[in-house]
Amino acid sequence: MYMSDLILVNVTEEIVRGLVSFLLRGPEYQTFCKCEICEFDTVALTLNALPSKYVTSMEARDEAFKEMNTPESIERINKEIIHVLHVVNKYPRHKVEPTS
Ligand SMILES: [Zn+2]
Repeated sequence: MYMSDLILVNVTEEIVRGLVSFLLRGPEYQTFCKCEICEFDTVALTLNALPSKYVTSMEARDEAFKEMNTPESIERINKEIIHVLHVVNKYPRHKVEPTS
């Protein structure tokens, strides 16, 4: 194994980042703030509520991704994200509406 093959990633984070980005831009959350602060806060709060899944190789990453990318698993993660989206939308860390 070469050093360049070595990674350290939380596969849960990868999945949550993707789902948050997707959900926020969907029709249900049109009125929700989509600024980077709110998006990052949503990702962070969701990740604090879910078990992390760290891996150190691309092979393990692909395996973990496959395991986590099932309808039941995605539904469970989406449920947590949606809960957090409403919390962040109600209590954003910024006062004024950002432009984005
Ligand atoms: Zn915001």
